[in-house]
Amino acid sequence: MADHHETLRDSDLFPPNHAAALERLQAFVPGAGRRYAAERNRDAGPGRRDNVSMLSPYIRHRVLSERQVLQAVLAQHSPEGAEKFIQEVFWRTYWKGWLQMRPQVWRAFLRELAADRARLEQDAGLRSAVTAAQEGRSAVEGFDDWARELVQTGYLHNHARMWFASIWIFTLGLPWTLGAEFFLRHLRDADPASNTLGWRWVAGIQTPGKTYLARADNIARYTDNRFRPDNLATEAHPIREESPPPPTPLPTPPTLPPGQRVLLLLHGDDLGGHEALPAVVSQIIPRPFSHTDPGYRPSVFPDYALGWKIPGR
Ligand SMILES: Cc1cc2nc3c(=O)[nH]c(=O)nc-3n(C[C@H](O)[C@H](O)[C@H](O)COP(=O)(O)OP(=O)(O)OC[C@H]3O[C@@H](n4cnc5c(N)ncnc54)[C@H](O)[C@@H]3O)c2cc1C
Repeated sequence: MADHHETLRDSDLFPPNHAAALERLQAFVPGAGRRYAAERNRDAGPGRRDNVSMLSPYIRHRVLSERQVLQAVLAQHSPEGAEKFIQEVFWRTYWKGWLQMRPQVWRAFLRELAADRARLEQDAGLRSAVTAAQEGRSAVEGFDDWARELVQTGYLHNHARMWFASIWIFTLGLPWTLGAEFFLRHLRDADPASNTLGWRWVAGIQTPGKTYLARADNIARYTDNRFRPDNLATEAHPIREESPPPPTPLPTPPTLPPGQRVLLLLHGDDLGGHEALPAVVSQIIPRPFSHTDPGYRPSVFPDYALGWKIPGR
């Protein structure tokens, strides 16, 4: 295991450029049908992940759009044949829209995170338990390997994310916000929607009454018997009751003035924003911008400013 970690640094796993993203997409597409549906839950470990796409950092930062990914898949598979993969890509889109229409859920996460961080300052026992968990010293088999893998590679398989979040909350009894923030800091695909709502779902806040309990036999089965922890929680009660807030409509985007020059700033949150615009790019100025949102993780993908001429007049 350590050997894989030595060689699979995140910069190796996800080269931050468009050509690498396209190459990975093309390599994955033949397996996006039956193979993905049958094998996607298996986490055979670092360096053995060709059963999933590992496209998430590229999709997250919109180096590749969901449309582009699905078009490539549908060029080789029927919609029925690739149904499972298509559904997973739509989960991302669904979570994005869900949070976009309920921005107060993100603000509530940030408030709860600040309160839990303040507790850490005052509670030495909690502080050392959180540090041990993040450094892979919790004494829970599997969990410690995933903590180190996350920090060293910037990626975890979906099933490992579910097991990790469940063990963090229900076995170790740690505040869910601090686990979510640990993911945000290290995942190359760190996303306010997929991550926050994924953690809320495991904790039983997102879907009222439903939690996710990690079980040793499930972990052993889907990790090819690499791990079978014997000290897991045996029950998982929702950490609180909360009805999801109703959706609010999105603001209407402003209309761009015809014939005018505009400057579009593209940053790591959406490097494909220019795809919606009609004209040709007149200038590309790569430059880093400063971000103040505490949920924003500096991306390895470069930021750009694009000069744009809107057609007309
Ligand atoms: C606690 C927790 C935290 C998570 N945090 C993030 C996050 O910060 N960013 C992120 O992109 N995903 C997150 N996910 C979802 C999922 O684990 C990853 O998208 C997936 O593991 C990425 O690997 P892949 O590209 O090989 O996925 P594949 O299995 O190949 O899936 C293809 C694409 O579909 C999308 N997708 C797949 N599963 C999900 C899912 N459950 N929810 C939303 N989108 C999905 C991703 O864009 C992914 O690249 C989280 C899940 C959990 C349980």
